[in-house]
Amino acid sequence: MARYTGSSCRLCRRENLRLFLKGDRCYGDKCAFERRAYPPGQHGQRRGGKYSDYRTQLREKQKVKRIYGLLENQFRGYYFRADRQKGITGTNLLALLESRLDNVVYRMGFANSRNQARQLVRHNHFLVNGKKVNIPSYQVKPNDLVEIKEKSRKVTSILEAMETVVRRGIPNWIEVDKEKFKGTFKALPNREDLTMPIQEQLIIELYSK
Ligand code: SF4
Repeated sequence: MARYTGSSCRLCRRENLRLFLKGDRCYGDKCAFERRAYPPGQHGQRRGGKYSDYRTQLREKQKVKRIYGLLENQFRGYYFRADRQKGITGTNLLALLESRLDNVVYRMGFANSRNQARQLVRHNHFLVNGKKVNIPSYQVKPNDLVEIKEKSRKVTSILEAMETVVRRGIPNWIEVDKEKFKGTFKALPNREDLTMPIQEQLIIELYSK
């Protein structure tokens, strides 16, 4: 599966927002966005002025795509799925993204970033409802149980992540039993529970052109 291999910090600077793509580093004074809060590139510091509607919509789409670590085709696929579902397309889109197994592992605090979660899932460290699942895009359903495999409970990166998750906290739609190395995806998050600065209607406007 193709993935973005460039600089993560560059993406935060481009979107003018800390996207928390690098785990621990994002919480310290080494965060590149804190040190250089302007767009990357030779003319980054000179840019500004009024943005077109298209540009605003495009940037919003890029931002969400980057938060969840997806490439264009994957993200577009989620939009079409969300559009086919009943309800508000933007809310459906965010719910689909939040239900990805790599995101759920990150939200449960078993990884320090979605990138790391994706790698851990691929390396077979997790069970969903007792069965091995190594597909990061696997859609977790309400009441599904996500568990760290017995053999993987000493993996340093997982243990470190479980120690440091207090910094960002565990959201209310997820329940984690740290002692038992497992968590439950209790329900799909409500829109108001998602506190990231996302204006999903701009993405819908972009794709419905
Ligand atoms: Fe973004 Fe800062 Fe983390 Fe780099 S260190 S990915 S700039 S939040």
